[in-house]
Amino acid sequence: MSDVRRSLPSVDAVLRAAGPVTDTERARLLPAVREALSGARAGGEPADAAAVLAQAREALRRRDRPTLRPVINATGVILHTNLGRAPLSAAAIEAVRAAAGSLSVEYDLDAGRRGERHGHAAVLLAELTGAEDGIVTNNGAAAVLLALASLAARREVIVARGELVEIGGGFRIPDVLTRSGAKLVEVGTTNRTYLRDYASAIGDRTAAILRVHASNFRVVGFTASAASKELAALARERGIAFVHDLGSGTLIDTKQFGLGAEETVPEAVAAGADVVTFSGDKLLGGPQAGLAVGRAETIAKLRTHALMRALRPDKLTIAALLATLRSYVDGTARDELPVWRMIAATPQELERRARALAERVGGEAIATRSTVGGGSLPEETQPSFAVALAGRPQALARLLRSGDPAVIGVVADERLALDLRSVLPEDDERLARIVSVVLARKGEDRWSS
Ligand SMILES: *Cc1c(COP(=O)(O)O)cnc(C)c1O
Repeated sequence: MSDVRRSLPSVDAVLRAAGPVTDTERARLLPAVREALSGARAGGEPADAAAVLAQAREALRRRDRPTLRPVINATGVILHTNLGRAPLSAAAIEAVRAAAGSLSVEYDLDAGRRGERHGHAAVLLAELTGAEDGIVTNNGAAAVLLALASLAARREVIVARGELVEIGGGFRIPDVLTRSGAKLVEVGTTNRTYLRDYASAIGDRTAAILRVHASNFRVVGFTASAASKELAALARERGIAFVHDLGSGTLIDTKQFGLGAEETVPEAVAAGADVVTFSGDKLLGGPQAGLAVGRAETIAKLRTHALMRALRPDKLTIAALLATLRSYVDGTARDELPVWRMIAATPQELERRARALAERVGGEAIATRSTVGGGSLPEETQPSFAVALAGRPQALARLLRSGDPAVIGVVADERLALDLRSVLPEDDERLARIVSVVLARKGEDRWSS
């Protein structure tokens, strides 16, 4: 037996040092103690029972640290897919809390019998979009999949080449089409597709024309595409469906905030699409969900398709979505929904907040450009302000990520910057406190400069 081995305590001795523990604690501690002992053995360092125990407990504590933690999004990307996209409004959060117990998700309280999960949102969606009916799915991708599976399985769907996009996270339109059981027929070229390209591709096996919002890129220069209205008219004339995947889908005109024009959901519906699909957590500003609105008979096909059961939203989603839609009906969306509050924030307001934060934490207020993100308004930016922090950006970023809530910034000009466009004003105080605490700790951190 080597010296180190002799100088290490036994597993039992370490567990005894832990004092009285429950069976559960003991069961978790045991493998951690074995690991710590084998580490000590490999390292050739002598250690007593208390030291091994402390090491085992530290390993457990690290493992127990939740990986799903609240974050302050200071990236300047408002709809950040990795950070949960749209933050919910106060009303939506309250609705989720209330929905956590039992509720009438599939129960008709007036009639006292089984009700319809989709009925709650359908009325609001019809009022807000001008569509006859609507359903809710788990996300936007599910709405597209369901629409294609319901309307075009084993038949052909015509899509412009320039719209065969990858949204991100592996969501590629051609793959979704294949999964729905439909066959893709590409028309036009990357940059130009005319109405006549669609018209000449329609045959006996054609079920639908699909239009897809480009979402995260822009085709500029020598380009051409058919108008939604023309595609709808062509589809109607030839007895096929027109499915329009808007992606983000907005109910508010984005031009008023100095951003480019986005076809709104009511515009897409009015243009004559049979189904318009969009996400709940992009510009709508609600929970992760997919919405499909359109003609009553078309939506009925989606609702009764076998896939619907697998793609349906849960009660918390429905509750948050209804509260979000309610803000639009009440005309308060712009003032209540975080996404629109962030988009509407003026540069003057952001500069004032950046200066205040910079003063608190000892950084510098700098002008930046923020983006909406989330597959909407590609290449569009808004003027914003950030607080740039002195120090090695990667080290600072790591420290800020360790906070609770974690703070995620962005590296600009080799400095870590906290962009305030994507932070709600009511979070400024919390942000200032966390950054101050983290910067105070910086001196002790071996990674920092
Ligand atoms: C984002 C997006 C989707 C997918 O929506 P999710 O809600 O992310 O599932 C589909 N189509 C387009 C055009 C999109 O921009």
